[in-house]
Amino acid sequence: MSEATQLREQEEFREYCRRWLEENRPAPPSTTLPQAAYEVTYEDHRNYLVDWQAKCYEAGLIATDVAREYGGHGHRNFQAIASAEVRRANVPYFLNWIGLGMTAPTLLVHGTEEQKKRFLPPIFTAAEIWCQGFSEPGAGSDLVSLQTSAVKDGDNWIINGSKVWTSLGALASWMLLLARTDKNDKYNGITYFMAPMDQPGVTVRPIHKMTGECGFNEVFLENVIIPDHLRVDAVGAGWKVAMSTLTSERGAAAGVGAVASSESPMGAIHQLIELAKRTRRNGRAVWDDPVWRDRIMKIYERTEAAVQNGRRARISSLNGGAMRIPLQGKVVGSEIGQEMHQIALGVLGQRSSLYVHDKHAEEDGRWALGYMNTYTGTISGGSSEIQRNILGERVLGLPKTK
Ligand SMILES: Cc1cc2nc3c(=O)[nH]c(=O)nc-3n(C[C@H](O)[C@H](O)[C@H](O)COP(=O)(O)OP(=O)(O)OC[C@H]3O[C@@H](n4cnc5c(N)ncnc54)[C@H](O)[C@@H]3O)c2cc1C
Repeated sequence: MSEATQLREQEEFREYCRRWLEENRPAPPSTTLPQAAYEVTYEDHRNYLVDWQAKCYEAGLIATDVAREYGGHGHRNFQAIASAEVRRANVPYFLNWIGLGMTAPTLLVHGTEEQKKRFLPPIFTAAEIWCQGFSEPGAGSDLVSLQTSAVKDGDNWIINGSKVWTSLGALASWMLLLARTDKNDKYNGITYFMAPMDQPGVTVRPIHKMTGECGFNEVFLENVIIPDHLRVDAVGAGWKVAMSTLTSERGAAAGVGAVASSESPMGAIHQLIELAKRTRRNGRAVWDDPVWRDRIMKIYERTEAAVQNGRRARISSLNGGAMRIPLQGKVVGSEIGQEMHQIALGVLGQRSSLYVHDKHAEEDGRWALGYMNTYTGTISGGSSEIQRNILGERVLGLPKTK
């Protein structure tokens, strides 16, 4: 296919996505959705979001570039367009963001044919929700210290241990599970499994966050039986597979859908500007105060630069390395989000202390809630400190930390 034909087809697909999203934007649910997919707790929100994701899949906006035999739509270079248009349209997020952003890219690289055919289609439609069982009470940044054990018993594995901070754990049918199969080999003693959550021996306990929501969970695994065909890649190859999953989680893979699990940064900055325009201080709008305006415009510029960097990352010749820009994206994006919310709280002044459900709170307390929630981005999937270590060591080639 000539380059001109490909460009024309991509342009037509972009127009199709834009039109479809405009015509099919869902009516809001009867109660306000949480700000991000990892805080979804209630069944009515779950059902609303599952319907929405299934509809987007049917329309071709999810799994756009995945082969048809795995439930995809079989295009080439269309997914980035669909994902960009979904973000631009400011529509509800996709609930199955772990499935789309972590399980699917991992299985496409490491899964067997049977695993890809069995597990990918219900990820795309959100018929099966996924969670990620990596972190443990003694293994977060230092993930390789994980202790959950898997012991072979005939064709099965017996799992014992516990996981923590498991987002969507209470709604999920499946977990990406890391377990130790050899206590004497730190890195080569980890194996990667897909664990069914409805098994005897699996106990999920929600954890309440400082926001009052309970997005994540503790998961206890007591003599849980996992058949060997649910192992991903070789016994002992779990660390390698986990790095592949984490690379996707940290943004360095294209994904198979718009995996953004919360609102778009440009959408948020425009809401911040509107807030500054309607909030009055000392007889004038905050927006007309040059000091506040300067702060807002600086964060606007950084947000725009981060968005443009995201576009640059998709063109390998501008990228300068598979991970350079995408890995920066997680650090920069999460810190911009935090600063944006900090500015919003400053704009609100004393009123920033009014929280969700207070009838006097601006926009139902979304900025105060959002400020606390932005700490998710700087911690989960590898804290900003860890991300900076990775960038320093693997991208800039600086000496390794001890
Ligand atoms: C909202 C949320 C959702 C999450 N969802 C999931 C999930 O679904 N599944 C899952 O498996 N996990 C999940 N996590 C866990 C997340 O991956 C861990 O919190 C993260 O990896 C940090 O680990 P930790 O909490 O144990 O902190 P620690 O590792 O104890 O770190 C504490 C502090 O020390 C710093 N630190 C640690 N080591 C170093 C170092 N070598 N150099 C510099 N600084 C260092 C860290 O940056 C941090 O500031 C989630 C976390 C959050 C906040």
